[in-house]
Amino acid sequence: MTRRMLIGGGAAAAVTMTGTRPAAARPSAAGEEVDVAVVGAGLAGLTAARDLAAGGASVLVLEARDRVGGRVLNRELPGGGVTEGGGEFVGPTQDRIKALAADLGVATFATYNEGKNLLYQDGKRTPYATDGPLGAVPPVDPAGLANAAAVQEMLDSMAQEVPVDAPWEAGKAAEWDRQTFDSWLSVHAPVPSARFLIDTACTSVFSAEPRELSLLFVLFYIRAAGNEKETGTLQRLTDTAHGAQQLRFTGGSQLVPLRLAERLGDRVRLGTQVRRIVQAGERLRVESDPLTVSARRVVMAVPPALAARIDVDPPLPASRDQLSQRLPMGAIGKAIAVYPQPFWRADGLNGQVVSDRGTVRVTFDNSPPDASYGALMGFIEADAMRRLDGASEDEIRSEVVADYTRYFGERAASPTGFVVQRWDNEPFSRGGPVAFAPPGVLTEYGPAIRWPHGGVHWAGTETSTFWNGYMDGAVRSGERVAREVLAAL
Ligand SMILES: Cc1cc2nc3c(=O)[nH]c(=O)nc-3n(C[C@H](O)[C@H](O)[C@H](O)COP(=O)(O)OP(=O)(O)OC[C@H]3O[C@@H](n4cnc5c(N)ncnc54)[C@H](O)[C@@H]3O)c2cc1C
Repeated sequence: MTRRMLIGGGAAAAVTMTGTRPAAARPSAAGEEVDVAVVGAGLAGLTAARDLAAGGASVLVLEARDRVGGRVLNRELPGGGVTEGGGEFVGPTQDRIKALAADLGVATFATYNEGKNLLYQDGKRTPYATDGPLGAVPPVDPAGLANAAAVQEMLDSMAQEVPVDAPWEAGKAAEWDRQTFDSWLSVHAPVPSARFLIDTACTSVFSAEPRELSLLFVLFYIRAAGNEKETGTLQRLTDTAHGAQQLRFTGGSQLVPLRLAERLGDRVRLGTQVRRIVQAGERLRVESDPLTVSARRVVMAVPPALAARIDVDPPLPASRDQLSQRLPMGAIGKAIAVYPQPFWRADGLNGQVVSDRGTVRVTFDNSPPDASYGALMGFIEADAMRRLDGASEDEIRSEVVADYTRYFGERAASPTGFVVQRWDNEPFSRGGPVAFAPPGVLTEYGPAIRWPHGGVHWAGTETSTFWNGYMDGAVRSGERVAREVLAAL
């Protein structure tokens, strides 16, 4: 081992949640020797390592970045405080991330949701209450509302026919996987304002445009927005009060992976980009820049596009490799503007916007629980993010602040701080929030998503059956792969 970057409290912290002290990594001629090497210290990899260690396996987590958390990242704000640059919200049926956070002592608080939402459409700004019969649905024209409601009902009902563990086995899988979400919408959402609502829901859930997504994948994702007891619905994906945006973590979501890594102690190695995995007899040699690890099993806890960048020798079956080649990441950024107070609250607004134009079309109030300062967070998604490829932070800032000023008035024009977090140019994420399936991928290659091969096992939110794409899915995938590997050791 040439370089060791450790996290947290070392030996004292190297005790698992069950209180047992599992076997440590042993140095050997081939590098360090462990039962399991985990690639990636996002929520999936860290959860897998926790459970593997609790099951008595020796484990090392190899993380390319100089931090843990992957797509979950606390950004410090100018003037103090933190905000989430990546995964942020949790909601009903996301049981596993909530249980993990509770175990680690990370509290939740309600996303600010008092007062009116804003609809910005055709240059017109309409505040609207969310306690009426439409709930949070923006009040577009009646024909659009009726059409959008019909589409939502159709999608929810079609989603019920998609098995979460095998979407390719849905009765109509071939028909649904042959078309994009866009081609289906062009038949079923003819009213322009309905299209606007559904398109906005689509980009804010996937950070991809409807033309990029397989209809079958969209249905799977809706069905997966639930748990073993409650089936997923489109509303649970998009809603704040009763959906995936309901709660935030006090102190920022990255506290969860940070505390988990602390418990794992020196089992987590940072600055360790895995480049190659080589079958060496009964074991696997995991080669990274600073160290080589010899393991009986490897858990790949990275998104498919990143897995495809790791050389595996002998190669993985074509089905797995081709799957990794075909699951691109969405294009996403977050822009957070800071103000001395959340002034929009005094105007009776909750900070949530849905707009048909602009760089940022969906916003949230990201102020801290004590509202000691105001923070507006906006998503930059899909085409809007791609258009800014090559733009400087200053250019992005001026576009975003212009949007916030249109939505919230002149006081929004002078933020005291501004943070932009782009994910499409992060070398170890390559986009976000999730990898999505274009047409033809799930039915042709989907079954390879969790197939272990040659001692290599698969985790990461993209492998989850519930809350695929979310922090909860990442945790679930880590728990599942740990069970799988412990049974195989
Ligand atoms: C902007 C944004 C907003 C989001 N909002 C939400 C939200 O509100 N709620 C929610 O639940 N989810 C949200 N998500 C999604 C959520 O963050 C992810 O689903 C989850 O964090 C994925 O965890 P993971 O462990 O599967 O993967 P990752 O977090 O991607 O972890 C993979 C890890 O592998 C590392 N890695 C990659 N390649 C290598 C290599 N060769 N060698 C070693 N290490 C490597 C990476 O650095 C990374 O740390 C959002 C994501 C983004 C980007």
